[in-house]
Amino acid sequence: MSQSPKSSIKEKPPLIWLNIFIFTSSLALALIAAPWYAFNYGFGGEHFVWLLICFSFCSLSITAGYHRLWSHKAYQAHWSLRFIFAIGGAFALQNSILHWSSDHRVHHKHVDNNDKDPYSAKRGFWFSHIGWMIRDYHGDAYDNYSNCRDLQKDKIVLWQHKYYGALALLMNVGFPILLGIIHGDVIGMFLMIGAVRLVLNHHTTFFINSLAHIWGTQPYTDKNTARDSATLAFFTFGEGYHNYHHIFENDYRNGIEWWHYDPTKWLIKSCSWLGLTGQLRKAPQLKIEKAKAAMSLRNAQKAIETWPNKQDINTKLQHEFEVLMSSMNDYYELKKQLLESKKDDMVKKYEYSVLTLRYKDIKKNLAQQTSAWNYMLMSVTKKARAH
Ligand SMILES: [Zn+2]
Ligand SMILES: [Zn+2]
Repeated sequence: MSQSPKSSIKEKPPLIWLNIFIFTSSLALALIAAPWYAFNYGFGGEHFVWLLICFSFCSLSITAGYHRLWSHKAYQAHWSLRFIFAIGGAFALQNSILHWSSDHRVHHKHVDNNDKDPYSAKRGFWFSHIGWMIRDYHGDAYDNYSNCRDLQKDKIVLWQHKYYGALALLMNVGFPILLGIIHGDVIGMFLMIGAVRLVLNHHTTFFINSLAHIWGTQPYTDKNTARDSATLAFFTFGEGYHNYHHIFENDYRNGIEWWHYDPTKWLIKSCSWLGLTGQLRKAPQLKIEKAKAAMSLRNAQKAIETWPNKQDINTKLQHEFEVLMSSMNDYYELKKQLLESKKDDMVKKYEYSVLTLRYKDIKKNLAQQTSAWNYMLMSVTKKARAH
């Protein structure tokens, strides 16, 4: 169900009736038939438990599997986990791993480019949410997977791509019916697991392409429309930290702080303790801190744009920023040295303690620089508000 748009084409591309049928029929069943059924026959606890299980299974297969594992290679996974994600992805009905990843890699490479980004947010909410899938925007490139040659070496990816239609039907129709037979309510389970779950899975994922490029903050970069939103992260298993993700796309985390709600990150990390995942990639902390500081400098510069003495303040800001950068460089360099010397038994105790002392010193220096920088930013923002 994924296409690539060509906005330069004047005439609208033809509609894709299969996708329109899937989106509208599941929505009608979820919004009309399910409430009607609930009113007349009622749903039991088992319906809601299965809804939560299936919704989470599908969501995590997309976020941990399709997105962070296959599209971004943010970690490696055991074949058994890849198999589970492949089944969950077909259940989520978002096309095959190969197709999804290919579209997603183009999205990152050409983000916000209306001609190349398959779901460019610059074309508006509707287009980036669902519009891109209801017309045949792809041209001749629909099955061009040349940007996913690495994935074509994964037998599970190829197998899922080949049998995607059958797997999708089995999971979306067969499985809910099976649950219905087990619990003695085929229609109720079909409505809940077939329709309500599918609509929730679809639209929460689609929000990453639409809302995550409209709503929220830009703490790391404003070079693209991607945004961080804790609210969105809650509904999307952590994918709402999309501003961070667009700048450090190979990081297995999207929410990097420990308090960030990112169950996908927790799942990947927990699986590493069981030996099911490995080679978890993280962006270097120095790069993250630098991106954040550079972004706050840009914001401060924007805030003083109209001030008569902006030249002076800008010089001060720039100076303070450079001091902060060099202090950051020193700190992370020494931290690295300290870690390396810890591993090296040959390093004498004396050398190690000298290094530790310097490290403490530089750490203190960085803390002072950071608070001086924050103070400066605060006073600029305060004055900007008063202006
Ligand atoms: Zn994006
Ligand atoms: Zn991504």
